[in-house]
Amino acid sequence: MHIFREIGPMKAYLKRERSNLSTVGLVPTMGALHAGHMSLLHASKKENAITVCSIYVNPTQFNNLADLEKYPRTLDKDIQMLVATECDAVFCPDNSMMYPAVSQLKFDFGALDKILEGEFRPGHYSGVALVVSKLFNLVQPNRAYFGQKDFQQFRVISRLVEELKFDLSLVCAPIVREVDGLAMSSRNMRLNAAERKRAVILYQSLKQTRDRLLQGESFSQLRKTVATQCNLNNVKLEYLALADRENLTQLDNITDPSRAILLIAAQVGDVRLIDNLFLTENSN
Ligand code: AMP
Repeated sequence: MHIFREIGPMKAYLKRERSNLSTVGLVPTMGALHAGHMSLLHASKKENAITVCSIYVNPTQFNNLADLEKYPRTLDKDIQMLVATECDAVFCPDNSMMYPAVSQLKFDFGALDKILEGEFRPGHYSGVALVVSKLFNLVQPNRAYFGQKDFQQFRVISRLVEELKFDLSLVCAPIVREVDGLAMSSRNMRLNAAERKRAVILYQSLKQTRDRLLQGESFSQLRKTVATQCNLNNVKLEYLALADRENLTQLDNITDPSRAILLIAAQVGDVRLIDNLFLTENSN
């Protein structure tokens, strides 16, 4: 596997590969890799001749300095996992490579980046759009792979690709979960044993709300129930939202389950976790 810390050698490698008509898949990550990331890599390997994984903890998408500092960094182990998956290349730049000068460039996606995560993490999606634009320009992939786990991020990036006319296809891969249902996340490794047990409440809340919504119960009542349950479990609920899958505008109730998604964010200890579930998703 090629390990690129600098832009020039990576671009030269990709130019050579493209001249052989190889298609390129890009899997952008912030490292601390787990089976969720691996599912994106497997999807890319199936569909492209070359798969590039980027590992970069992007400072401009963190609105909270402590969160940035505590973000897990496990580069040596990540590289071992990528070698085992037969990933072709990893791009792991440092800040001076990605931001040689302080960037003033900001993105505004209207309501889409102000609601849900955008409300609790102001500026987050501007930073995401900035780094993803840089990665798309550097790697020029044919396809780029993102997880449903960060569904609002996927919607923001879809808008970015449409508006800036990036010549690539986006793929949204399903959420990979632990046995008890907790969505895999690099942040899970910051949970202690007791917090880890309590963290399953996010997924349980999504499933319970989905089942009861489909039986006709009101969303506002179900949200109160989840808030109470989170409180009792010492989990700080930030939001539980019912939204339109396409534009993420919030819904009061479901008219068409195939268009609806439930999204949740909560703090367990000092770790902030998110999850989501399509109303029509099969899970038990
Ligand atoms: P991150 O390293 O957290 O920025 O995630 C990199 C990519 O992996 C993003 O597109 C995430 O949505 C995706 N991802 C993270 N966790 C999971 C998961 N449990 N299942 C599937 N994809 C995931």
